[in-house]
Amino acid sequence: MSQFWSDLVHKLTPYVPGEQPKIDNLIKLNTNENPYSPSPKVNQAIAKANNGKLTLYPDPGASDLKQSIADYYQLNSNQVFVGNGSDEVLAHAFLGLLKQDKPILFPDITYSFYPVYCGLYEIEFNKVPLNDNFEINPEDYAIENGGIIFPNPNAPTGLLLGLTAIKKILNSNPNSAVIVDEAYIDFGGETAISLVQDYPNLLVIQTFSKSRALAGLRIGFAVGHPDLIEGLERIKNSFNSYPMDRLAIPAGVAAMEDKDYFKQTCQAIQSTRTQLSQFLTEHNFTVLPSQANFVFAKHESHSAEDIAQALRKQNIIVRYFNQPRIDEYLRITIGTDEQNEQLCQALKDILKP
Ligand SMILES: *Cc1c(COP(=O)(O)O)cnc(C)c1O
Repeated sequence: MSQFWSDLVHKLTPYVPGEQPKIDNLIKLNTNENPYSPSPKVNQAIAKANNGKLTLYPDPGASDLKQSIADYYQLNSNQVFVGNGSDEVLAHAFLGLLKQDKPILFPDITYSFYPVYCGLYEIEFNKVPLNDNFEINPEDYAIENGGIIFPNPNAPTGLLLGLTAIKKILNSNPNSAVIVDEAYIDFGGETAISLVQDYPNLLVIQTFSKSRALAGLRIGFAVGHPDLIEGLERIKNSFNSYPMDRLAIPAGVAAMEDKDYFKQTCQAIQSTRTQLSQFLTEHNFTVLPSQANFVFAKHESHSAEDIAQALRKQNIIVRYFNQPRIDEYLRITIGTDEQNEQLCQALKDILKP
């Protein structure tokens, strides 16, 4: 605490990311990173970009990266915004689209950064409870609001909402910005990007951190009507002209272009997810049907906190949220098949009678 802090700083409750311990041989299944390396073409692009040009500022518009995302989704590049991780894109969207007179809506169980942005930008919000199966009910969002945001698949549940349900939310909210945070969409869901042509109030946000294995480079993007994108550009150009650096831009282009590698690694993760879900079910866990690169599961008798602690003693870290409604659950990131086998072996030891 300091007398020099502003009133706002005193009031903030910052986000606490999952830990990044500096321990060797750790099986790290706590922050939904990709267990595979990024495309080999990414490393080549970075080596090529690191050619003595780091003295120069990067392209402030990151136009090559925007173009490669636009090409991938068959859009115009004025429908694409890029930022330093999707967390930054989200922050700009909160300030640029969701800071309105009426409170915004998001699920009670969701990405815990949302209320943090609301604190930072002094945005009022109402939490909409998920139903008893942890699902988003579109009808619950047909109430007055200043905007709507939810992840799809939702985090930390992993449950996917179909496009029909998303259209329901959009149709009942023509006067609100509706933001779909698709951090995990590439692991089995269908993106809402196809809807942006029909819904000028829809913003879809994605990240390179999960499905493209580039959490360390910080690349996120948003897709929507050019007017929504222009709003985000106005915020970005009032904050930091160069959020994307000279290595991230070509690396992002290379990741976007290597479609074969992307498909292969996403499929590997989905197949390991099926194996892990089956193992957990056979060992008396309730496992929510995940379409993400993690599973959310609770054991019938062992507490989630105890299991997490016991796993940690075996150098495996998973995520436990000490929060109402979900404090019985563990969120476990999908690793490689080898990591998964070690996880299952450790769980067998921990759960044996
Ligand atoms: C991981 C995650 C993000 C943030 O991703 P970055 O691009 O690494 O900032 C955003 N939203 C959700 C729901 C996430 O799980």
